[in-house]
Amino acid sequence: MIDMHAHIFPTISREQAYALDPEQGPWLRVDGGGKGMMMRGEQEFRPVHAPLWDADARLADLDRDGVDVQIVSATPLMFGYALDAQKVADWAERMNDLTLEHCQKHPQRLKALAQVPLQNTELACRVASSAKASGHVGVQIGNHVGDRDLDDEQLVEFLHHCAVNDIPVLVHPWDMMGGARMKQWMLPWLVAMPAETSLGILSLILSGAFERLPRSLKICFAHGGGAFAFNPGARGQRLEAARHCAQGLP
Ligand SMILES: [Zn+2]
Repeated sequence: MIDMHAHIFPTISREQAYALDPEQGPWLRVDGGGKGMMMRGEQEFRPVHAPLWDADARLADLDRDGVDVQIVSATPLMFGYALDAQKVADWAERMNDLTLEHCQKHPQRLKALAQVPLQNTELACRVASSAKASGHVGVQIGNHVGDRDLDDEQLVEFLHHCAVNDIPVLVHPWDMMGGARMKQWMLPWLVAMPAETSLGILSLILSGAFERLPRSLKICFAHGGGAFAFNPGARGQRLEAARHCAQGLP
């Protein structure tokens, strides 16, 4: 059995994160006893456990769950899409190296997807290609960069680069919509995250991007396609109607 989506958060120190961004730099606080906390600047973001950063603890989970191979990728907190692109390109390469190191402890069982500075297409393409050359099996990207969704020409250009260079892409929802209305019960994860994935898929379909992209593109949307998979209206007649509107047809 292959688990194609699991997260990793390398043991980034507070100082390393500070160099990326004093307020939003992500780092890992390891609290002992196999427990830790994902941090954003001084803020606690989410409690986590050792398999997230410790390859041996991860392997124990894989053995327990009967998983032969797991493909790991950064937690979206590490993307840095709102920060300076060149800084984030350097950061992404460092994170990609740490992710490979993690996987190389059990190379037959663990494979890595790289992260890229998606806010700058040229840099993102460069980091994706160098990650592929160093052993990553593909890239993971967020489903949007600020207000730019996957129909954005620059993001489509990045997907084109991946298609022609045989770099598989995993799209992960992040930076969830809904603002103050999603303030409790983990609603950003339960409601907004599946909606983000659906928005990403529909942005590609309705903009006609899938028709323009090479058929060689290997693209996968995390979490079973989010809300899209369970919304018949987004796949049937209403989708057809929306496509006609998008193309300005009656
Ligand atoms: Zn995920």
